[in-house]
Amino acid sequence: MKKAWEDSRRRDRAASVLRSLFKHIRCGTGHEVMLKLSDHLENGTELPSLDIVMSLCPDLSQWQEIECLINSRNPSNTAVRNICADLGQYTGQGKGLVLFIEEDGLFSAWAPSPSQTESPASPKDTLDELIIKGAFGPPDLNARLSGSDPTQYNPQEKRALAVRLGYCLMDFFDVNLSSKRIYLLGSSTVSFRNEPLYLSFKSGLPGAAESHIFRVGHPALLSFAKLLLEIDSGKIIHLDAVKHAVTDWNVDIITMSFGFTDGSEQGCDDLRDAILHAHASGTLIFAAASNAGAHSTAPAFPARLSNVFCIYSGDGMGNSAATNLTARRYAPNFLTLGEAVEGAGKKRKSGTSFATPIAAGIAAFLLLYAYQNLPPGEARRFKEYDKMRDLLFHLSIERGGYNVISVGEFFKRPAEARRILLASLLHR
Ligand SMILES: [Zn+2]
Repeated sequence: MKKAWEDSRRRDRAASVLRSLFKHIRCGTGHEVMLKLSDHLENGTELPSLDIVMSLCPDLSQWQEIECLINSRNPSNTAVRNICADLGQYTGQGKGLVLFIEEDGLFSAWAPSPSQTESPASPKDTLDELIIKGAFGPPDLNARLSGSDPTQYNPQEKRALAVRLGYCLMDFFDVNLSSKRIYLLGSSTVSFRNEPLYLSFKSGLPGAAESHIFRVGHPALLSFAKLLLEIDSGKIIHLDAVKHAVTDWNVDIITMSFGFTDGSEQGCDDLRDAILHAHASGTLIFAAASNAGAHSTAPAFPARLSNVFCIYSGDGMGNSAATNLTARRYAPNFLTLGEAVEGAGKKRKSGTSFATPIAAGIAAFLLLYAYQNLPPGEARRFKEYDKMRDLLFHLSIERGGYNVISVGEFFKRPAEARRILLASLLHR
């Protein structure tokens, strides 16, 4: 039996419903479609129908409940020609639209609304609005003591919300997950903490080729981590880590111990833009080559980019690790210690992911040394990719096609010789 997270039926079903719905919207008003998120894992064979709330046109402030069923139409259902007109037909009369998604089109019927209310529930707050209002922030003691602040989540409630979000959102592996797209919906009779959660879509579910492959750095995992951090800290986080580090923190070096098999996966375009920006701002970037050995002919993305230091792993004697890719012919192949590196908890880890931060540390040390021994205006130039590359080349020993970084020789030279070497690298 498949594990619950391997079961992509719900995601597949949502994708086909969204595709079908958006195909039938032709008015161009920008309808919003909200999909109710299930807050438990389904492990049965039968999948429940999908519940949707959709805005009506033209004013978009009214909402209609829709239940979507797949392949269960009966002959009396009518084919949908204009979904906008169909939606408005019984609005406010306590009826819900049932849509039948079939291979040959979309069919509809009206049924009493599942919530039995006169008009359907309207969107209340987005998670984003709740965060801005301070619902997850540090408690306002005065309000707490007087018991007058029911909007604040206490730590247990925050954790419960995080777990609910985990169940329902990981279903979708959606890279554009954001607190702005998560709605808490419901009538006032529903207790505040148990309001159903909805995820809003303005177009179909984006297709993801490897949607269920968990991997460090997967954009869907990053956006989910950001959501959890926002709930925990009570603050909106602007997670464009590379741009943030370059612009706000003004860092000298960024190290990335991850890589994508090629540069066409989701999130890679944003990363490429951010790296170009970092490069232009004089930030050095180090990235892991990959540990695929002979099974890959090119380094991972972003290590393969020409302005990124692509780092290979070796042992303490400068021998190339068995998992390294073959060294490239026309590009630098910097190698440093990455085998059996002692990590947190005394566990030893191996691979280019561990060599990369060590290489970045060596570059940071060389940069500091340059600042201590050259005028600041000159030292700063080692933040240019070409200059740091030349310096690392100078300190490397070629071995089996790799440029093994070895700073020992450099520091055996007299101080004046070191200063002259640094200066000469800048003037060629
Ligand atoms: Zn419309």
